[in-house]
Amino acid sequence: MGVVETEGLVIRTYPLADADKIVVLLTRDDGLVRGVAKGAKRLKSRFGSGLEPFSVVRISYFRKEERELVAISQIELERSYFSIASDPVFLQHFSYAAELLQSFAPPHDPNERLYKMTRICLETAADDPSVLLPVLTYFETWLLKLGGFLPPWERCSDCGGEPALDEETALQPDFGIVCSRCSGRGRIQVLSTFQRSILLKAQKTSPLKFAEFVSGKEKDLVEVSSILRRMIARTLNREVGNSWAAVNP
Ligand SMILES: [Zn+2]
Repeated sequence: MGVVETEGLVIRTYPLADADKIVVLLTRDDGLVRGVAKGAKRLKSRFGSGLEPFSVVRISYFRKEERELVAISQIELERSYFSIASDPVFLQHFSYAAELLQSFAPPHDPNERLYKMTRICLETAADDPSVLLPVLTYFETWLLKLGGFLPPWERCSDCGGEPALDEETALQPDFGIVCSRCSGRGRIQVLSTFQRSILLKAQKTSPLKFAEFVSGKEKDLVEVSSILRRMIARTLNREVGNSWAAVNP
């Protein structure tokens, strides 16, 4: 194993004994990494401000095969989101995203698409906090998709046909959808054509363009986000993001 150098996004930190901290990062080349930053709690730490949540950093650490925790030797700040990350609403939303990443991203399993997607979501929301909600929905969609947990809303799960864009579909208990001809059996929730297009659009565009697409359609967006959160809860076998639910009932 030995020394690893990569780019990463600080997800969270928590105190360890003495002057040390545990740092959780999503890295580009090594997936989710938990490491010890020795002396990080000291005022004049060599890690400087590179440990603030949601900082983009260059990191070097030593990894031993049999240990989950790595020993962080160096962290250099590349981009700080400190000003926006101190905003309570932003913090609440991205803490939820951070919690999801910790649940979905396996340790030391690199996924460059997940890393890039997370970074662009963070950048987009930091540039314009008014798009936080669509960016989070975009993030939830991609997190499920990259994990292989997103049902294909392009097709009816009964007949395999492709519902027309203006065709009402119904959500199934397994979160697949059925077309209007097949619906009626086990139908639990009608999806409007726009709600379906929200999920399809998120998979085809950037977070910013997605935010433009759903602009003024908050009710549909919240509905789709709540479906995604039910998918996430089913995938993880537990509820996540209660703090998120509190700001977006
Ligand atoms: Zn069908």
